[in-house]
Amino acid sequence: MGLGTAMDWREGLDAGDLSSEALVRAAFDRIRDLDGNLRALLAKDEPRSLALARAADARLGAGERTPVLGLPIVLKDNLHWSGLPMTCGSRVLDGYVAPYDATVVRRLLEAGAVPIAKANLDEFAMGSSGEYSAFGPTRNPWDPSRVPGGSSSGSVVSVAAGYAPLALGSDTGGSVRLPASFCNVTALRPTYGVLSRYGLTAMASSLDQVGPIAATAEDLALAFQVMAGVDPQDSTSVDLPEAERLAPLRAADLKGLRIGLPKEYFAEGLEPAVRAVLDGALREFERLGARLVEVSLPHTRCAIDTYYLLCTSEVSSNLSRFDGVRFGLRVRPSEGGLPEMIAETRDQGLGSEVKRRILLGTFCLSKGYYDAFYLKALKARTLITGDFHAAFAEADILASPVSPGTAFPFGAKTEDPLAMYLADAFTVPASLAGLPCLSMPAGFTGGLPVGIQLIGPALSDVRLLEAAHAFQSATRHHFETPTLSA
Ligand code: GLN
Repeated sequence: MGLGTAMDWREGLDAGDLSSEALVRAAFDRIRDLDGNLRALLAKDEPRSLALARAADARLGAGERTPVLGLPIVLKDNLHWSGLPMTCGSRVLDGYVAPYDATVVRRLLEAGAVPIAKANLDEFAMGSSGEYSAFGPTRNPWDPSRVPGGSSSGSVVSVAAGYAPLALGSDTGGSVRLPASFCNVTALRPTYGVLSRYGLTAMASSLDQVGPIAATAEDLALAFQVMAGVDPQDSTSVDLPEAERLAPLRAADLKGLRIGLPKEYFAEGLEPAVRAVLDGALREFERLGARLVEVSLPHTRCAIDTYYLLCTSEVSSNLSRFDGVRFGLRVRPSEGGLPEMIAETRDQGLGSEVKRRILLGTFCLSKGYYDAFYLKALKARTLITGDFHAAFAEADILASPVSPGTAFPFGAKTEDPLAMYLADAFTVPASLAGLPCLSMPAGFTGGLPVGIQLIGPALSDVRLLEAAHAFQSATRHHFETPTLSA
């Protein structure tokens, strides 16, 4: 099939020039050719996907139209798709088969999208590089000696390598935006609550969001439109009525749009070559009529600490359910009873980064430390959120780097957890504030892609996509694709 946008395939399917079955067959051929090297995917069920494709073709033949009808999609393997194994990139879920569909998956299936595979990820979505999967790292299609970024590594690579025009990831502190920036694709983290979390395996519940990934903002809108909206199964879900009018996405008129540049993000730590690419993209926005204004987010310096205190605290609670009793792996020690079984299962089933976070989080929440760490982090979160509110008085949207650098070589940060955490410096603040944000291609340096992040006020998801679409209508960075060989 090669690389095409979802909009291209949408038109072909609607015009009857293409069948979903042909698209899905071509997707599996491409996966067979390329995934031995890239290792983006985990479970697949080709006969089942082909049956779904034929069902979509029947609906198309009967004149039905939906934004995603017949389009192949890849799902991050922390989302439930009934009947397929779900691993979350962990050994602790060995043998677990999803008994139900996540709400976002169900909505896509009802609209006729065709899931083709589950995608590799950092274990339980904890990581920034894709290296923490129990099933081995996924490779970056632009340079196989480098990481694709994480934690939605396999989902992003599936789009970058043209397995599917659409994928779902999840973003807690940057997990769709960072890999999108490393692999030259576009990804949205919606306002917290706009996409249901029901059936997304919880990492840090106050931060987790499902995020669509595609080549363009226009393509994101197709999937987003079908998934958005209140879900009785997720009490934190909210409605976004504008989402319904998304396809086809309008390009925003950027004339007079005030784009705020947080001065704390364009500072020390940002690689000069990345900065140069971003400057080019910002000039493009100016050429399209936008006005650049400097804004300040003074509590940015607390964001990494705040995020990693809250995230690990929530992780320590959420991951207590993996105990060898209810899901997946059970290791029976030769001696002892239930406590030993639980300890042994968790010891053998969970990887070192997950254990590190459970320990840190348990420590943060323990008596005597709760006020000093967890409670203080909650207060810092309020200050960080307040910074954004103040900035949106001066700017309509914000633009920033996604990451201080480009995709790094395997192993560059695995020995130093703090260095890995710092890759998230520009992505965690918007997560803490629950704001919609996206990453889209801005250009290249040294043959590697660089993404630009746009952040909007709460519930401005549609306007953000429209702004990205306007930029993409005037630029070609997002059409650059990697040269791939089997
Ligand atoms: N890299 C961040 C972390 O490791 C974000 C992960 C995510 O968004 N799932 O926590």
